[in-house]
Amino acid sequence: MMGTKTRNLEILHHLLDQDLYPVIMEGGIIKMPDELKPSPTNQGMETVDGYSTRRSKARSRERSPRWEGPSDRSWSTSSTTPVVCSDIRSIYERDLMQIELAYPESRQWLFDDHMWLLTKSQLTEDGSDPASFLIGITFTLPVSVKAWGFWEGVTPIGPRHTNYGDGSICAFNPADRSWKGGESLVPLLDMYSLWAFRHLHLMKFGYWPGRQHCDTRYERFIEVQDFELCGCGSNTKYIECCKASDQNADLLHEAISFNLRSNNGFRQIPLIVKQFVTDFQKPPPKTILLS
Ligand SMILES: [Zn+2]
Repeated sequence: MMGTKTRNLEILHHLLDQDLYPVIMEGGIIKMPDELKPSPTNQGMETVDGYSTRRSKARSRERSPRWEGPSDRSWSTSSTTPVVCSDIRSIYERDLMQIELAYPESRQWLFDDHMWLLTKSQLTEDGSDPASFLIGITFTLPVSVKAWGFWEGVTPIGPRHTNYGDGSICAFNPADRSWKGGESLVPLLDMYSLWAFRHLHLMKFGYWPGRQHCDTRYERFIEVQDFELCGCGSNTKYIECCKASDQNADLLHEAISFNLRSNNGFRQIPLIVKQFVTDFQKPPPKTILLS
């Protein structure tokens, strides 16, 4: 008989593939909304289809971040309303209380012009596969944010949907403006939790659930599995969407330009980041957030 945990993962997989956002509970537990919980008399996946007309009381978003994909550059965003740096710092100082409520095991290292935050997400209700995140935020304009994810110990979470170069998290497409510098970090932490949850799903089932975006055709071809949603960002399976045209394209040419742009597809978490999440002695310098 299928275990509850496996079944919950499967239901969440279907939710995400339908571009629906699950509920993120305190401690970064990814859950299906209560109404969708399978009951003994209602085991069918059809309950998932009813979700779009329902709202959950728990912390959730209207929709998932539309895109996830690595890029060869770090991103930074500036708020549309002009804010001075001291304001950004005070915004995030106040935000720490919200973070404490949403992610109780968090720790922070606050400096004049940036901060480091360490959070833990349980991901599943039994908490058997927790993830931790190290997030750096600058208080200078434009606000720059970088984060790295780790499984228990300091095993990096990735490489899917991480940035080339420093292996930082790519949880959504900045162009989609799912989150902007100056906004509360809790929704951003929720997106990181969901990103790690998708990795958990990928490890257990060999399948990345939900929409995703790959910057180049070559990257799509080497990363996306046939039955995952296509890396062009559509909600169609890759095999039914872009796979045929990818196979017919000049992939050698694409591979060369991809390698030129992406540091040969190389991803390596900076040593100073790994060291810090091991011993918490010396926070990485702010410059690492700007490169
Ligand atoms: Zn496609």
